[in-house]
Amino acid sequence: MKEIFADLHVHIGRSEEGKPIKITAARSLNFANIAKECVERKGIQVVGIIDCASPYVIQDIKKFLQTGEAYEIPEGGIIYKNEVCILLGSEVETSEKGRDGHKGAAHNICFFPHLQDIEGFSQELSHHVKNITLSTQRSDLSGYELVDIVEKYHGILIPAHIFTPHKSYYGNCTDRLQDIFKEKYNKIFAVELGLSSDTELADEISELENKTFVTNSDAHSLPKIAREYNKMYVDHISFQEVVKALKNEEGRKIIANYGLDPKLGKYHRTYCDDCQTTIETTKPVQICPNCGSSNVTFGVFDRIELIKDKPTSQSPAHRPPYIYQIPLGFIPGLGSKTATKLLEHFGTEMTILHKLSEDDLEAVVGEKIAKTIIKAKEGNMHIHSGGGGVYGKIS
Ligand SMILES: [Zn+2]
Ligand SMILES: [Zn+2]
Repeated sequence: MKEIFADLHVHIGRSEEGKPIKITAARSLNFANIAKECVERKGIQVVGIIDCASPYVIQDIKKFLQTGEAYEIPEGGIIYKNEVCILLGSEVETSEKGRDGHKGAAHNICFFPHLQDIEGFSQELSHHVKNITLSTQRSDLSGYELVDIVEKYHGILIPAHIFTPHKSYYGNCTDRLQDIFKEKYNKIFAVELGLSSDTELADEISELENKTFVTNSDAHSLPKIAREYNKMYVDHISFQEVVKALKNEEGRKIIANYGLDPKLGKYHRTYCDDCQTTIETTKPVQICPNCGSSNVTFGVFDRIELIKDKPTSQSPAHRPPYIYQIPLGFIPGLGSKTATKLLEHFGTEMTILHKLSEDDLEAVVGEKIAKTIIKAKEGNMHIHSGGGGVYGKIS
């Protein structure tokens, strides 16, 4: 058994021929570049690419397999350069009966063992969305229906960024996941926390106690891959081994979640869309205390305050630690030039964030930035909460 790092939520911007997949994501974010980035700069061993149901991406994958540097394995997944296992995934937006009688939308990340499986899934999903070539199109399916389709193609379904305000189950569909999945709730064995929450917050909801928490980057550009990730204990890298780890079976498990301090996330607190301020009241409010507007985007922290059913946060015994990490991009004064310099010296971001001492860092970037990186690592920085789509800031 060995320890590996996994990021299960990475988007694709364009196909290799330049066809748009996720319009808001970077052009350089294509299948082959993601594989390379994981090996060369990030140092992660499992990556879930969640735009693989697009027929343009399926074409790219076939081309990628023909290069001879990558191959599919019987246990599921594509191995590249013998160093990274790529999981073929699809993010699906489901339609739910929302809260307060509104229509709700929720995101789900679904993973499939083989190219053949995701091709079948893509075919079937194309009858439920307007344009199958684009990322995360609204489908006419509910989560309850989607579970069965995913299962038909040997896949697994993980509710994505479960608390975010616009596109998630708790954010705008329901107070309880059990009401969505009903008797199929036991088929959901993991949920994704999202950047604006953490284990402590999520463990205020009792129906999540038996679920595994995953922390993923939701990267829309290459540098953002692995800004959140999971450390897993597996025998080797494959789809099957990851599924076992998510199910906490046969000694396979997640041994740590690495993620942002939730205050840094884009939707941590409620945000007034009129006066454009983050509302940091102790209790959640529906009306902006600054300007009286009710035009507010609810924060993840605030939403959890409203729906939690445990008096205090208590994690079950199986829960691994959640370790705060500050990606290099959030360190004040550390621009992309310095980041490149660090990567050239130390190889991968994992090494920089987890293995280096202040002296190591100082030799390359000078005393001031080295000190800031260490302080951020130790959690000794003041953070202004994010909200309404704006990241939090370290001061
Ligand atoms: Zn999403
Ligand atoms: Zn306001």
